[in-house]
Amino acid sequence: MDHTMLINGEWVAASSEETMPVVSPFDGSVLGTVPRSAREDARRAIDAARDAFDRGSWPRLPPKGRAEVFLRAAHLLQERLGTVAELESRNQGKTIKQAADADLPFTIDNLVFYAGAGRTLEAKSPAEFTGDGTTIFRREPVGVIASITPWNYPIMMAVWKIAPALVVGNTVVLKPASYTPLTSLELGRVFQDAGIPAGALNVITGPGAEVGDELCRNPKIDMVSLTGDTATGKKIMEAASSTVKRVQLELGGKAPFVVFDDADVAAAVEGAMVGGFVNGGQDCTAATRLIVHKSVRAKFVQHLLERVREIRAGDPLSRSTDLGPLVSPVQQKSVLGFVEKGKSEGAKLLAGGTDLREKFPKGAFVAPTVFDGVASDMTIAQREIFGPVLDVIEFSTFDEAIEIANGVDYGLAGSVWTKDVRTAVKAANALRFGDVWVNDHLPLGSETPHGGFKQSGFGKDLGTDSLADYTVVKNIYIDLTGQARKGWHYTVYGDPA
Ligand code: NAD
Repeated sequence: MDHTMLINGEWVAASSEETMPVVSPFDGSVLGTVPRSAREDARRAIDAARDAFDRGSWPRLPPKGRAEVFLRAAHLLQERLGTVAELESRNQGKTIKQAADADLPFTIDNLVFYAGAGRTLEAKSPAEFTGDGTTIFRREPVGVIASITPWNYPIMMAVWKIAPALVVGNTVVLKPASYTPLTSLELGRVFQDAGIPAGALNVITGPGAEVGDELCRNPKIDMVSLTGDTATGKKIMEAASSTVKRVQLELGGKAPFVVFDDADVAAAVEGAMVGGFVNGGQDCTAATRLIVHKSVRAKFVQHLLERVREIRAGDPLSRSTDLGPLVSPVQQKSVLGFVEKGKSEGAKLLAGGTDLREKFPKGAFVAPTVFDGVASDMTIAQREIFGPVLDVIEFSTFDEAIEIANGVDYGLAGSVWTKDVRTAVKAANALRFGDVWVNDHLPLGSETPHGGFKQSGFGKDLGTDSLADYTVVKNIYIDLTGQARKGWHYTVYGDPA
């Protein structure tokens, strides 16, 4: 199917009429095409969003009006859940049970949450701070937002970006990742059918280096919000600096998963399985660094390997598949490159490390992989792999565990496993990561602020903190004296009265 994109309320092709294929990572088949936009198409979308912000109804609706659109959108997405989840699974390679039972329900809940949260915006109470006038604080939308999203959770990341932005009255140009544009186009359709005015939400497809770059440089955009790789975040900051745009960045991660000597090892193994292999490890919070106390490491590794053998790789559309292909052959090659690097740096490969080519000749698979004997300065312990690869790193003391855990450039998420409440709190406080779980790994709710420290970026997705990112505070001063010449004017000219 040849898809079109949403600009100013219309479904259109690229001006050049060029298209890009969207490919299944499971069997290499072409799922359809999307427009291959160029800068001029991005400018069309930006102009539409600018006009919708400066003159349109969306920013001027009362919060209740925007909430009603959100609730209708949530309802429509719920009605379409089956087809959208299947599309997500086919396009991204994630399992249907994850798409249909986790990603989509959570995405719908995000929309419902923001419908209400958008109505709670508060600023400080007005008061007579100078004695002579009243100051009113208003919290206003920032303006036109460029939302640029990654390929690992296509529709969910799109909603994490656009929902808090739109609900407070901004207008948006959404650019999904080129591998996985299909469900973001569906999201555009959902909002259009829910009654969002033309131009308030535009969805354009095309290469990041061209279309994304235009969004970051164009003076009509007020803010760029990216979920993506740290290297992309750096480029975006630089491009956005030319017009001093606000930037919100949710970037890469390298989550520590610290298992203390008193931990429930069986629970920790279950946590490592879901934390490490969720979405085939293509998750910014993935538990990739299993930092395990030396007294429980052997037991932990043995249980882990038993579990890893149970993972069922296969067709992502089958309900009994646990692990689908990675998003693309490029990602598969990159992950296998890290496996080779791990081996060459002396880590011990205990499981996986292969491409499962014999079983799935056309699929971008990587078998669930476990390395033991990993040192924290190895490449596989420092760089984000974004595949089903777990590293086991041994430690002896609390301080050593924290040093290893914090010893990366990233600071997105991590977890600690212990039965001792003091160890749990001390470790959670010491970890320099935006999300820290105790005796679990991954859970997030629509209410929970999610965002990184260090090179994992800044700003928050989810929760009401994200509303602060997409609003700006204005103070308005109203004179109450009615005097032409005020008492303080002599400090500028003349003498006191
Ligand atoms: P990516 O950085 O390659 O791409 C992200 C988006 O940026 C895409 O839409 C891409 O087209 C666009 N882009 C690329 N170059 C650009 C440029 N020069 N200017 C403007 N836009 C550009 O990321 P990805 O490979 O799609 O996704 C994986 C990454 O996302 C991982 O690093 C992962 O950790 C991160 N991620 C972070 C979070 C979080 O919450 N912190 C969540 C999900 C994914």
